[in-house]
Amino acid sequence: MPFTGEMEDSLAEDAHSPVPGLVHRYPDRVLMLVTTQCASYCRYCTRSRIVGDPSQTFSSKDFEAQLDYLRRTPQVRDVLLSGGDPLTLAPRVLERLLTALREIPHIEIIRIGSRVPVFMPQRVTDDLCEMLQRFHPLWLNIHVNHPNEITAELAQACDKLTRAGIPLGNQSVLLAGVNDDPHIQRKLVHDLVRIRVRPYYLYQCDLVHGAGHFRTPIGKGIEIIESLRGHTSGFAVPTYVVDAPGGGGKIPLNPNYLISYSDHKVVLRNYEGYITTYEEPLEYQPIDPSLVKPYVDETLEPGQSGVFGLLEGEELAIKPEGFDRLHERGGLAHRLRENAEKWIPRGIGDGKPKDKGG
Ligand code: SF4
Repeated sequence: MPFTGEMEDSLAEDAHSPVPGLVHRYPDRVLMLVTTQCASYCRYCTRSRIVGDPSQTFSSKDFEAQLDYLRRTPQVRDVLLSGGDPLTLAPRVLERLLTALREIPHIEIIRIGSRVPVFMPQRVTDDLCEMLQRFHPLWLNIHVNHPNEITAELAQACDKLTRAGIPLGNQSVLLAGVNDDPHIQRKLVHDLVRIRVRPYYLYQCDLVHGAGHFRTPIGKGIEIIESLRGHTSGFAVPTYVVDAPGGGGKIPLNPNYLISYSDHKVVLRNYEGYITTYEEPLEYQPIDPSLVKPYVDETLEPGQSGVFGLLEGEELAIKPEGFDRLHERGGLAHRLRENAEKWIPRGIGDGKPKDKGG
């Protein structure tokens, strides 16, 4: 079903891939696509442009290019293996990849996204778990959308994986006519935590070609989170996200719990509609920054600090492309525009005039 906004690669993954199959969207982590084969072939798959097409799969030459990029990119500390489904790879191939990743000293954690425990649980053997646990810290996210998918076989596969020390999370997609109901979602998260899988993300359906009929309004996702937060254990509430069309990454959305605030009081509401005030400290002394050892080396990936960078005083504003040029209104250079110093805020940024290209 065609719809406005529909795209072949709605998350612009290929545009954010320095080498085929390695999506480097965030500063410190990457998505490494290792196969186009899957155990499931979901109709709404974000990557349906390649998943299920053997001619698009990744070769050992691609793997080498991906690994080579990672070796020379020290800011990457977290690698998420996905595809397709990495657990459909021959175990020896997967083992070789994991071994190569573990040889890269700056890679701290490895994650796997897999629907194999749901669709092909017999593949989660003792041998596979024994192999995976040699590459800790290794995390795994499964993908369950409906409580009916939680079978005895899935429970057993999850039990094996957790006994191998692999923390399990779940990613689900909000699907019209399938799980777009607070009661289904509450049963889903309860059944997941019973098999020791923590609900991690609830995704708004992407703008994928052929998936229009599965999409819900975003308000349905907010309603579902409203029905969960406070009504069940906090760790059973997934983060509801829209994966930003065009490649902006995940944007979390929540009901609004902040009602109002003044310079010393915040008015909040809880899940029951109980409205309360939190009195803010009048004399707040933040920690002395000179006592804090920098943890993140921003020089490795400058320009990604975003809104947090504004709070940290790196910049005064984030401007849309061409902002300065547009606001010059095609006017001529004149005496009141000569001194660029007058637009440099004291104490923010590096004290140098910014590129007027916007
Ligand atoms: S399990 Fe994931 S990769 Fe496989 S078809 Fe479904 S959404 Fe796509």
